[in-house]
Amino acid sequence: MAPRHLGWPVLRQAVGGADKLGRGAAVLSPRMDAYRARTETADKVVGSVCPYCAVGCGQRVYVKDDKVVQIEGDPDSPVSRGRLCPKGSASLQLTTGKAREYRVRYRRPHGTDWEYLDLDTAMDMIADRVLASRKQFWEDEQDGKPVRRTMGIASLGGATLDNEENYLMKKLYTAMGAIQIENQARI
Ligand code: SF4
Repeated sequence: MAPRHLGWPVLRQAVGGADKLGRGAAVLSPRMDAYRARTETADKVVGSVCPYCAVGCGQRVYVKDDKVVQIEGDPDSPVSRGRLCPKGSASLQLTTGKAREYRVRYRRPHGTDWEYLDLDTAMDMIADRVLASRKQFWEDEQDGKPVRRTMGIASLGGATLDNEENYLMKKLYTAMGAIQIENQARI
């Protein structure tokens, strides 16, 4: 093995170490030896599903001090067998990344510019609109037959919704009386 004091990995490979391809000892350094995987120090590991697309790759979510510290592919998943595509591999950013948004951008009717709203305000506004639409377009019967439905609410889901989310959405919309419930993944 080429001596480590030679420093630069290319130099270590060049002077005749056994690791000519630079995939082992030639690329090691004391600094690298000191690195520890975030998975090693996690308090617990939680099984999950990648939220990005309908493939539904299995994930292992590593948690330390109640914070997500790493997300990796789950080797036990029959769907993905430990693999994640680049998007799924970067899903740690979705949970803790600096770019994560905690506000909503809103443009009022007849408004000419966008404004930011906090999530609680936005959720209250959505709830108010759902209740108003349900009431305005409620039908007790049609052609003398009971229907008890609202035609004022429809849902079109996307392929990033997982089984559990779709289940809850169907329950919610059906309970509200909506009958127009679709998903793009059906196409
Ligand atoms: S890892 Fe990639 S392929 Fe798998 S579910 Fe996530 S986005 Fe889809």
